[in-house]
Amino acid sequence: MMSITLTAAQQVARQAVTEQISRLVHGVYVYASMLVVLAWTTPFAVDHPRVYWGCAACMASGAAVRLALRLFWERWRGAFLETMLLTAVGLTSAPSGLLYLCSLLYYGFEDWTFTVLLIWTVGGASGSMVSFALTLRLLVLHVVLLLVPALGLGLWQGDTRGITFAIGTMVLVVFLLTQGVWLNRAYLKQLEDRAMEEARLRELELAKAAAEAANVAKSLFLANMSHEIRTPMHVVMGMAQVVLAGELPAESRENVEAIHGASETLLHVLNEILDFSKVEAGKVELERAPIGLRRMLEELRLTVRPLATLKGLPLEWTVEDGVPEHVTGDAVRLRQVLMNLLGNAVKFTAAGAVGLRVAREPGGEALRFTVTDSGIGIPVDKQKLIFEAFAQADGSVTRRFGGTGLGLAISAKLVALMGGSLTVRSEVGKGSEFWFAVCLPESAAASVEVPEQAAARERTGLRLLLAEDNAVSQRVAVALLGKRGHHVTVVANGVAAIAAWEREEFDALLMDNQMPEMGGLEAVREIREREAKLNRRRTPAVMLTASAMRGDRERFLDGGVDGYLAKPFRAEELYAAIAEATAPPGCATQ
Ligand code: ADP
Repeated sequence: MMSITLTAAQQVARQAVTEQISRLVHGVYVYASMLVVLAWTTPFAVDHPRVYWGCAACMASGAAVRLALRLFWERWRGAFLETMLLTAVGLTSAPSGLLYLCSLLYYGFEDWTFTVLLIWTVGGASGSMVSFALTLRLLVLHVVLLLVPALGLGLWQGDTRGITFAIGTMVLVVFLLTQGVWLNRAYLKQLEDRAMEEARLRELELAKAAAEAANVAKSLFLANMSHEIRTPMHVVMGMAQVVLAGELPAESRENVEAIHGASETLLHVLNEILDFSKVEAGKVELERAPIGLRRMLEELRLTVRPLATLKGLPLEWTVEDGVPEHVTGDAVRLRQVLMNLLGNAVKFTAAGAVGLRVAREPGGEALRFTVTDSGIGIPVDKQKLIFEAFAQADGSVTRRFGGTGLGLAISAKLVALMGGSLTVRSEVGKGSEFWFAVCLPESAAASVEVPEQAAARERTGLRLLLAEDNAVSQRVAVALLGKRGHHVTVVANGVAAIAAWEREEFDALLMDNQMPEMGGLEAVREIREREAKLNRRRTPAVMLTASAMRGDRERFLDGGVDGYLAKPFRAEELYAAIAEATAPPGCATQ
């Protein structure tokens, strides 16, 4: 077995030898059939048995060497292998040449015996061009041994026929050898190309494997980084919210609001980086669910309006008549794209107005979303660049306005996933227009629940079990939940959570996932099993976790959890998640 990696040159040499030996073995049949024809159709074997059988024996030993080569050549190296190859050819070519010579000597040009051997010898010499094209030395040896003895005899005979025969044979020898050289070069070149191609392919495969490994490492790194950053950020955001909810002197309130605002920005940046890596890796799959489109657009307007008002910008909001109430698509991603475009429009506009227009494309189901502003505009040469990751039209502007340069890259990819294309038209100093058209088929009704519905059903004074090992996160949750009048029992791991659940009835379980002894998901699974065994009421469980990578939500929901909230979260999101999980059955479709 070859354990080392072969270079292209070594591989060519190895392939040439393998093919050469295989052709040598096939050549054995030619000699065997020549002997049979000679004995059968001519008197040679009877007239000259010693020459005939001597040559036959020699050829048989040549055949044996050829067979041995096929079986053992990989164990033979260098000069020995070379000698064996020459022997294998010599032991068959020399007796062939001798038989040819003898047929001329014993029977002359006009006899059938000579004709038989002439056909065989000249045919064999021409055929050997292919057989020996891989190894020029063998071709020379074969042609010389086969044709030169008879050529010599022709010359020695000296008459017109003899000389003509010798000249003809000489021309044939020269022709065969020059053709052989040419064929040999072509064959070796072809082998070399094949070996190079294979080497390139192997390199590509190695590079692909390395890239895949790097990608796995990147995903792992992102997952860890996300988890590690989210946990302390959750504490910062949560504590700021707790403090802001209480009584504060005006100056302190401003300071805490600054902390809270900065942590929100940080969370936005983190989410954009994670989102971009997911989109880039092709790991985003769009949902196809009913969207209450007009309602979603109204919510969006309410979100953007305060930002625009802050800068004194009126919002020009037009949803044309043909736009359906409900459509099918991915509400979260559509909102994300529009929010990014509107956010940029407000960010890069100092005076004038910002607008959104939604209209049906003429003669189709596609809807066109257009976001306009009268802001700084984008130079023509930067209009393509801004859709690339981390690209910004103007560094100084960025320093002024902030941003990661990822929003448009993500949005463009999401729009492409929806089947559209995000396009910009802009003039420096006058403003910009971003638009895309996507096919969002009209749907009967949106069964999706809007957050306000869940919030409207919110119950207070619930008995909640919180499993969380981080002491500060515990304080954040208890303070936020206390504000809604909930009674919270706190435990620090999954085992204690199960024990508490055994002792008491809870309205809901709030579980962190990564805890010592037993994680949240494992504890919920165990509780689900026990509920089934004991025929106990199902206690809703909400996962409050810093694991926010792709597939985490599904993993938790599949494991028996009813709600999922990624840290850091806003107080309102926590209340909504609890309301949703504890809502009586049937409310969701009201
Ligand atoms: P970010 O806004 O976080 O920098 P984006 O990918 O959303 O990242 O935008 C990339 C760049 O495109 C911005 O930095 C800005 O230079 C330019 N840009 C985007 N939208 C607008 C706009 N409405 N007006 C002017 N420039 C814009």
